[in-house]
Amino acid sequence: MPEKEVPQAQPVTLTMEQLRTILEDIKRPYVDPEVEARLQRARARIRAQREQSEGERKAREAACPHVRRDGTSTVAWLTTPASDGITPFTRGVCQRCIKLFLPGDPDFARMIAVPTGGEDVVY
Ligand SMILES: [Zn+2]
Repeated sequence: MPEKEVPQAQPVTLTMEQLRTILEDIKRPYVDPEVEARLQRARARIRAQREQSEGERKAREAACPHVRRDGTSTVAWLTTPASDGITPFTRGVCQRCIKLFLPGDPDFARMIAVPTGGEDVVY
């Protein structure tokens, strides 16, 4: 089997900038443009779905009075019991629209003052 003729290596002169560019290109991971485009489309789709869900949640919460016909609150309140290093704090969730009422929210003080029903709740 005849040996392949190997071309004689020619010396090459590069500037430091050219060498740096070549090394950076070698280190850079390959990015498939099709894969990248698909990922971007997926991210945009997820972002749009998240914005739509967020809008629906806000509309649902805004449309809910958080009270029953008899004027009692539909918010279920929970207070974390005091224990070592934990300051007890109260938060609530509307059983109709799932809105969270956390301390500091403008609706928190208004809704915690509304009496809850409770007769129809089974524990
Ligand atoms: Zn509600």
